[in-house]
Amino acid sequence: MKPAQIAELLNEPACAHNAKEKSGCARPKPGATAGGCAFDGAQIALLPIADVAHIVHGPISCAGSSWDNRGTRSTGPTLWRIGMTTDLTEQDIIMGRSEKRLLHAIKQAIDDYRPAAVFVYATCVTALIGDDLEAVCKAAGEMFGVPVIPIDAAGFYGTKNMGNRLAGEAMVKYVIGTREPDPVPPEAQRPGIRVHDISLIGEYNIAGEFFHVLPLFDELGLRVIGTLSGDARFHEVQTMHRAEASMVVCAKALLNVARKVKERYGVPFFEGSFYGVADMSQTLRDFARLIGDPDLTARTEALIAREEAKANAALEPWRVRLKGKRALLYTGGVKSWSIVSALQDLGMTVVATGTKKSTEEDKARIRELMGPDAKMIEDGSPKALLSAYKELKADILIAGGRNLYTALKARIPFLDINQEREFGYAGYAGMVELARQLALSMESPVWEKVRRPAPWARLQVGTPLAA
Ligand code: SF4
Repeated sequence: MKPAQIAELLNEPACAHNAKEKSGCARPKPGATAGGCAFDGAQIALLPIADVAHIVHGPISCAGSSWDNRGTRSTGPTLWRIGMTTDLTEQDIIMGRSEKRLLHAIKQAIDDYRPAAVFVYATCVTALIGDDLEAVCKAAGEMFGVPVIPIDAAGFYGTKNMGNRLAGEAMVKYVIGTREPDPVPPEAQRPGIRVHDISLIGEYNIAGEFFHVLPLFDELGLRVIGTLSGDARFHEVQTMHRAEASMVVCAKALLNVARKVKERYGVPFFEGSFYGVADMSQTLRDFARLIGDPDLTARTEALIAREEAKANAALEPWRVRLKGKRALLYTGGVKSWSIVSALQDLGMTVVATGTKKSTEEDKARIRELMGPDAKMIEDGSPKALLSAYKELKADILIAGGRNLYTALKARIPFLDINQEREFGYAGYAGMVELARQLALSMESPVWEKVRRPAPWARLQVGTPLAA
C-alpha cells in the first residue's frame, strides 16, 4: 500500500475524531502501550466471517498474536476457527519463494476446506520484502475459481484501529456490491408485513449477544442481509450494498465502510448501540426512521412498549439489589457512555468513566448523562485505576479483560465488558444478563473471605500452632 493511500485512510470525514485531529487512528504517544498492530486489527475485524479461509501470509508468530481473540460466535460454519498461515521462514525469504508458498497455501485451503472465499492477510515481513499480494490473489482466484481477497494491512501501517479501517476498505473494494441478495424465502414472509433489508457494521456477536436482538428484527420484518462481521457469511457481505438502512454498531473504526457504501449505493446509516433499554429502543426507532415505512414505525413502537415492559419487570428484583451501588467504569469509545446509561438505568452510580479512546462527542454525551462534574479517567494503569477505585469508594470495577488480574489481585469485584467477555449484554434480554452479572459479582461471598487476614497472619511468633 502506498503512503498516500494510508494518509487518505487516516482522514475519515464521517468520524468525529477528525474535528479535533486526524486521530481516529492516531499513533500511540511515547510511553503508551501500543496495543495490537494494523494486521491484528484487520484480522480481528474480519475473522468472524465464518465460511472464509483466513490465511496469514507471514511468520507463524503473527498468526498466533491475533488468532481467535474475540469471543465471537457462529451459528454455522466453523472454518474461521482454523488458524491458517504460510509460516514463512528465513529460508523462504532469502530464496524469494514466499509468493509461491502463498499460492500453495491458497490451493491447500481450497482443496481441503472448499471455503466460500479466501482472505489473505499481509504482515510486516511480506510487505517489507515487497510481495505483490494483489497479483497473487488475483491469479489464485482465476486459477481456482474461488474469490481470493488481499487484505493489505501490514502491522507497521499503523494501529489496531487503522487495521480495522484497512479491513473495511478491502471489503468495500473487493466484496461489497459483488452479488445481489437472495429473494426473501416464502417461510420468512408474513401476510401484511413488508420485509425491509438492513445491514450492521461493527457488530461482532460477542458471546452470541446478537442472538438477543435478532428475533426482534425478525418480528419487525427487518432482514439482516449482511453484517461486518459477527456470524457473517461471505455471500452476505457481498450484498450489503442493497440494504435500505445500515447501522454502525459502537465502532468508529469502520465508519469508512458506512460512508463509502452511502456514497456509492445511497445506503443511509446511523450510529447506534444495543446496550441498555433506552439505547436499544432508540436503535429500533432509528431503523424505522431511516426506512420511512409508517407501518414499520407503528409496529416498532408497539414492540418497544411490550419489550420495555417485559425488561423492566425482569429487571425489578435486580434493581433492588443494585440500587445505590457505585461503579468505576473503564472502557473505551462509545461504550464509555452507552454503558453509563445502562448502569444508571439499573439505579447504580457511575463514579468515573474511562475516556482514553472516546471522541469529543462521546465525552459530551458522558457530561450530559453524568453531569458537568463527571470524572473522566485518561490513565488506565493498574495503579491509577485502583487509586480511583479507593478514592471514589466504588463497589465494582467494570473494564476490559486485561484489567481482570488488577482487580483480582486487589480483591475487588470485577466485570469484563470488552470483547473477551463470556456473557452477551446486547438487547433487552442482555440488559437483564448485565444486571445479573453485576449483582453476582458484587455479592459473591468470595470477597469477604479473601479480604480476611490469613489465619497464620494472626499468630504471634513463637505461638504454638495448636493455639
Ligand atoms: S507488528 Fe508485524 S510482525 Fe508483529 S504481529 Fe503485527 S504484522 Fe506480525
